[in-house]
Amino acid sequence: MFKKVLIANRGEIALRVLRACKELGIPTVAVHSTADNTAMHVRLADESVCIGPPPSRDSYLNIPSIVAACEISGADAVHPGYGFLSENARFADILDAHNITFIGPTAEHIRIMGDKIEAKRTAMRLGIPVVPGSPGAVTNDDEALRIADEIGFPVLVKASAGGGGRGMKVARSREDLSVALSTARTEAGAAFGDDAVYIEKYLEKPRHIEVQVFGDGKGNAIHLGERDCSLQRRHQKVWEEANSPALTEEQRASIGGICADAIAKLGYRGAGTIEFLYENGEFFFIEMNTRLQVEHPVTEAITGLDLVHEQIRVAAGQGLSITQSEIVFSGHAIECRINAEDPKTFAPSPGTITHYHTPGGLGVRVDSGVYQGYAIPPFYDSLIGKLIVHGRNRAECMMRLRRALDEIVVDGVKTTLPLFRDLVDNPDIGTGDYDIHWLENYLAAGGAG
Ligand code: ADP
Repeated sequence: MFKKVLIANRGEIALRVLRACKELGIPTVAVHSTADNTAMHVRLADESVCIGPPPSRDSYLNIPSIVAACEISGADAVHPGYGFLSENARFADILDAHNITFIGPTAEHIRIMGDKIEAKRTAMRLGIPVVPGSPGAVTNDDEALRIADEIGFPVLVKASAGGGGRGMKVARSREDLSVALSTARTEAGAAFGDDAVYIEKYLEKPRHIEVQVFGDGKGNAIHLGERDCSLQRRHQKVWEEANSPALTEEQRASIGGICADAIAKLGYRGAGTIEFLYENGEFFFIEMNTRLQVEHPVTEAITGLDLVHEQIRVAAGQGLSITQSEIVFSGHAIECRINAEDPKTFAPSPGTITHYHTPGGLGVRVDSGVYQGYAIPPFYDSLIGKLIVHGRNRAECMMRLRRALDEIVVDGVKTTLPLFRDLVDNPDIGTGDYDIHWLENYLAAGGAG
């Protein structure tokens, strides 16, 4: 096992990883920017190293500083959390060259999945169903038109290097297509320095359903069921559930089995998430994330498994602690992402938390890095915590969520809590009847008012 783990992240996920290390008896090193001197992850870690000024590119994305922090502290492994350097293949390579273990997949697998065209090709090769579209990048308008005619309009032009929904344009007709291609190319070139684009069938009313997988890097793999993350605003997930209210047990076992087989064939190591759009009973691969996800706690709630423990075990070469047949899915879980944002305009609301009370009781978990008196710095994303609720079934879970939302207090800054208090009483959410456009439409119509 590792002697010391450096956590190359901040906020709630740094705490999350720290807790797992504590349980496993592994000393931890926190890294932080000068804006995070008083952050909880710094207070709770065994050691901490300041790695630079507030902007992420000078601190949490500063690879030489992080490697130096490993050398100074004697850390022999790095957990990257999510975001920042978690899907940076170069970082994984550099750690490798310094004999420091990257707690994640190989740099090669990160690279393959980081390129959307390559990822889609790999998924097809491994037997995962994909959205119909161009076999690779489209290089000219005629080729694009031919493919679009073949798969039928509407189509979506997507950037191969895409992320965060950028470089994506819908074309509803032949007339739209050349504009969509050139805008997507320009946007992708500017945002990612790579203007390769490809074409996919545009699905009108899909759900976002993703499968949690784990591989041991030696050809063994498991799946931990799915999460439904259809409630999104600007392609950012807001509310996540496990299981999906839309799937039957047979569908779950079937898509989970396909994903686990693919991961085993790939020889993948660590945690991964295979994301699908789901429409009319069919799954269509969109991308694979080669890291721990923000919403992993809903999977932990229904499986009782600690995903960070598993990541650490696998990275240390100890293999998975569980086999597929030992996994039992129990009950239902929902996560609400609490952001320090105006609940109507979603403008960030940094500032000092004057009152803070977290809900408790059976089936309630709060993962957060904040505390009363904490000043949220303006430099990073606005996620301040996650409320995760578990019940024996969806109805019990919703009942418990309503109660927990009633109890939680975060004063001094604006938060998205009022949105969740509305959503929990909405009839469509109550029946689980929503797709990836539902939340945007709801907000455009003025929400609950
Ligand atoms: P990114 O990496 O930029 O987030 P994804 O491929 O994960 O891009 O897609 C982000 C979101 O865009 C999806 O969750 C979905 O809402 C929408 N989307 C992607 N592909 C399609 C498609 N073929 N049809 C309809 N919507 C899509």
